[in-house]
Amino acid sequence: MEAVIKSGERRKYERITINFDVFSRNTSKLIGKTVNLSLGGMFIETDNILKLGTKVLLEFNLPGQIIPIKAYSDVRWIRKSVIPEGRPSGIGIQFIGMYEAYKRKLEEYLEKSFFTEEINSDNYTLADFIEISDKDLFTKTKLFWEAIEDMTQKGFNTYRRVLLSACKNRVLVWDERTGKPREMIMMDSNNYLGLTVNTKIIKATKEMIEKYGVGAGSAPLLAGTYNLHTELEAKLAKLTSCDDAVVFPTGYMANVGCIPALIKRKDIAIVDEAVHASIIDGCKLSEGSFRAFKHSDTQNLKQVLESSQDKYFGKLIIVEGAYSIDGDIAPLPEIAKVAQEYRAKVMVDDTHAIGVIEENGRGTISHFKMEGKVDIVMGTLSHALGGMGGFIASSREVANYLRYYARSFFFASYLPPYLAASALAAIEVMENRPELHQNLWKNIKYIKENLKYLGFRIGNSQSAIISIIIGDELLLRRMNKRLHEEGIYLSALPYPAVPRGQERLRLKLMATHIQEDLNRTLEALEKVGREFGVLNKSSGTYTKALVA
Ligand code: PMP
Repeated sequence: MEAVIKSGERRKYERITINFDVFSRNTSKLIGKTVNLSLGGMFIETDNILKLGTKVLLEFNLPGQIIPIKAYSDVRWIRKSVIPEGRPSGIGIQFIGMYEAYKRKLEEYLEKSFFTEEINSDNYTLADFIEISDKDLFTKTKLFWEAIEDMTQKGFNTYRRVLLSACKNRVLVWDERTGKPREMIMMDSNNYLGLTVNTKIIKATKEMIEKYGVGAGSAPLLAGTYNLHTELEAKLAKLTSCDDAVVFPTGYMANVGCIPALIKRKDIAIVDEAVHASIIDGCKLSEGSFRAFKHSDTQNLKQVLESSQDKYFGKLIIVEGAYSIDGDIAPLPEIAKVAQEYRAKVMVDDTHAIGVIEENGRGTISHFKMEGKVDIVMGTLSHALGGMGGFIASSREVANYLRYYARSFFFASYLPPYLAASALAAIEVMENRPELHQNLWKNIKYIKENLKYLGFRIGNSQSAIISIIIGDELLLRRMNKRLHEEGIYLSALPYPAVPRGQERLRLKLMATHIQEDLNRTLEALEKVGREFGVLNKSSGTYTKALVA
């Protein structure tokens, strides 16, 4: 049999929702029912879970067709349903070999069905609307429109909820479902220290708006650099124990500017597989190569470095200080040791660590006492520092080079001076108000301990980000809808933001959450967790006095 579908081939037509019996040709037995079908494979709902990697010759009839399609296949992923409300168990199948004639039939069928199918958003993720090929360029936008409309009607669309008040522990949200504003507890903000509404910072920012106006008026290498920018550069360099720092209009721009400026044709970026999209995009924009290593696995990092050793000149290892999905911390001392062995440089994105990790929020470098031992520290001014902007801190030579070669720096208008003033004031507040940092950690510990006690599966969090693993996309959507109704604003992370089976609710703690916010959040999570069978009867019951 000719292998006509290469592993990893992009799906020409996205999967369609369908329901028909699938048999094993080896045993002539019914395996289960397919619910999704694409040119690359199918998902089969079944209680008969075949082992990962099992090879099976499948046979199925496309509706209205007499001759069955046969496909030599491989079990690529499995889903075991342990929760009554969750999706049924099943196996994800990849086709690895199919006769050309079958492939053509399948292709024709999928094309016809996909474009006429009524979209049921329960069966799709955002990833399904990226690779849709059609002569009409906008077909993908129309199909996606239908999916989002369906999702909104079901009350599952919790993206882009519009805020009518400042980002505090409680926010006023425009509720599309009721057509009324409502107060909610904010558990989804990067405003870890609550500085977006700090009166000292607002006062300093206002004064500088009066003095410098609302915009920089130009790009930084031309007429856009002000004394406030250079003052901020010096302050950020000091904060990160580096020689110098370059300020960018956003953290995203810092990553997509810095990486391509340094990684050229013969160089390689080696990134942790869990790094943020801005790092991946920076790698994609670069002329050089990039590879990923397993999350926080220094042994695997070593292997990647070993196999890259003779192929590339410069090497840059890129990790996050505290990861944005699980909230865990990178093993920086081990990474730096491996880097030294292979003469690689190290870049740490400390976006979720600054303001959170170590005394007064000095970040992971200080936490591991590695001052001066990390080559590049990236950070943002828009998370714990409460404003807007990003930065790269490094040696003075690297910083100077970036000012002239990081395209997102010099081809874009510069950060308005008042935002530089706001960041300067925010660093001042962060360094002189230790009680904010202490309160943040009190809140983190309280929520974490109680979530564990209740019996939720939480990730390995060491920061203000705490994940509750649900492991099923539809269940996740339903739970988040209910949490919204209960007045808790948090985010749901589906595939492809996380691997399948790791779908989760994510909470972000703030220093300004009060005890009542934490208690109400825990009560709502317990209630919804029980409603959907995520918490079972034997799990603990939340008591307000549990962890003082
Ligand atoms: N790096 C990481 C790890 C992030 O999570 C983010 C955004 N949350 C960024 C960079 C981009 O930062 P900004 O929002 O300032 O553009």
